[in-house]
Amino acid sequence: MAIRNIVKIGDPILAKTSRKVEKFDARLWQLLDDMKETMYHANGVGLAAVQVGILRRVIVIDCGDGYIELINPEIISTEGEQIGEEGCLSVPGESGITCRPAVVRVKAQDRNGKWCIYKGEELKARCFSHEIDHLDGILYTQKVIKKEISE
Ligand code: ZN
Repeated sequence: MAIRNIVKIGDPILAKTSRKVEKFDARLWQLLDDMKETMYHANGVGLAAVQVGILRRVIVIDCGDGYIELINPEIISTEGEQIGEEGCLSVPGESGITCRPAVVRVKAQDRNGKWCIYKGEELKARCFSHEIDHLDGILYTQKVIKKEISE
């Protein structure tokens, strides 16, 4: 495993749409292992492949209730809304208030290509929305309704 460089805001790759994963091979597993290590090293709760410069629909998440890998994730339903603070490893030293769904259900493949359904509430719902937005070139900064000012 290796820690990869995290792409920062201003890099045009963050605005690009990631492509579907077709091959569930050793190269994908290497990417996943590196993303996992990179996320934990940066104390993040989620990371999308585009944030390490790879335009593939791959995200890793750990909101404190276990590590998961989502490949080709799609939001299948949402419920309600939550307003809360959000930050991003690609936007260091900043956070903002955004509105996200309160509950998000996601369909995604695992590292072997098997489809699974995941349900996220609160932080995890926010994380699913945030990371899947990355795959479509969207940063949370485009959804901020109030910027947090640090003294
Ligand atoms: Zn992010």
